Amino acid sequence: MTTSNPPARKKIRATEQMARIMSDYFYGLNEAATTGSRKVAWCTSVGPAELLRAMGFAVHFPENHGAMLGSTRYSTDLIPEANAVGYSPDICSYLTSDIGSYLKKSTPLSKAYPGIASVPKPDVLVYNTNQCRDVQDWFNWYAKELKVPAIGISSPKNVVDVSEGLVDDVARQIEALVPTLEAVAGARLDIDRLRETVALSRRCSQLWGDVLETARNRPTPLTFFDGTIHMGPAVCLRGTQEAIDYYELLLAELRQRVADGVGAVDGEQLRLYWEGMPVWGRLRQHSEMFASLRASVLASTYCSSWVFPAFDGQDPFRSMARAYLELFIVRAEDYKQAYLKNMLDRFEIDGIIYHDAKTCPYNSNNRYGMPQRLEAQTGVPALVLSGDLNDLRCVSDEQTKINVEAFVEQLLERV
Ligand code: SF4
Repeated sequence: MTTSNPPARKKIRATEQMARIMSDYFYGLNEAATTGSRKVAWCTSVGPAELLRAMGFAVHFPENHGAMLGSTRYSTDLIPEANAVGYSPDICSYLTSDIGSYLKKSTPLSKAYPGIASVPKPDVLVYNTNQCRDVQDWFNWYAKELKVPAIGISSPKNVVDVSEGLVDDVARQIEALVPTLEAVAGARLDIDRLRETVALSRRCSQLWGDVLETARNRPTPLTFFDGTIHMGPAVCLRGTQEAIDYYELLLAELRQRVADGVGAVDGEQLRLYWEGMPVWGRLRQHSEMFASLRASVLASTYCSSWVFPAFDGQDPFRSMARAYLELFIVRAEDYKQAYLKNMLDRFEIDGIIYHDAKTCPYNSNNRYGMPQRLEAQTGVPALVLSGDLNDLRCVSDEQTKINVEAFVEQLLERV
């Protein structure tokens, strides 16, 4: 099978508004860091951002910067810089890209946002190891380099049931961050502001979930590749009204597409699930490759990981703890299999693609028999693609194309 010319890309109109709020976010961070008008906290992507925001910090997410380094392909030149100071090419390529960016004083932020010279210098670094240990090592490196405190939550892993005991443990760890954060911020935590911020995060998360749910329609109005772009506010601006306003706008547009029968991929004939990280430096190519095969990659664990039904403004610490523990990446293998089965059913998926990301074992769920077990359980065929989130030395475009085309051909024989 050969791919035909890629269909025209359908622009989501709300993208312009997203670009505006993300621009305001980055310039706001830059102003905080360069003028000292607000303290800056760095936070892992599913760290206690609500707490930091409620305490008045401007919050920077190094993983978001990592994704920018990957999607702009800056990472290719930067990863070796981190390798040279002892960080292996086999560990998280967000970490190595980001540390390389610091060492080489090179960031795509400067190109995208004139006047921004670097990522904002932190006053405090706050991690949660719910996703992996790499984030702790990553932040500890900066703590030594920049002489700022790194504090965080040591999360349970491979969680079967999110028990009250585990929630107690993590909630206490979040509360224990407060004295250090108050000392850095020079202000006391206002519990009402925290309640309000958690409630805003909940609303943002609900709307983001509703956006992703529109993909249950045939044809889907958005793809996984669109989702990786439009999740920016859910990651960087959760806990703010701007993110809520944005997702209301995006949701209305997608619902209109559904009402009008407009699909993200013309002539959708297959519905695919993406399990694992995106290949940031190949988003466009992958989007076009699948579209040219009339295959909609329309649902993913990755984008759905920013849906947190547990957030509750009335119970901020415990609900944050529960939200951070219920995350897919934190859970045991049986939970993950049941989750994936449910997703395949709900989105009426014809085939599942596992991205085996060389430098992120935590988001590569193909390594312990999952594809075989899930296929035996559901009958939905699986394809494993070897690659990486940021390190394009681990990506073979030709092999990816050959494997995807063969997979699509196999699936088409079944529909
Ligand atoms: S989960 Fe993977 S990609 Fe994310 S920080 Fe950890 S190792 Fe890196």
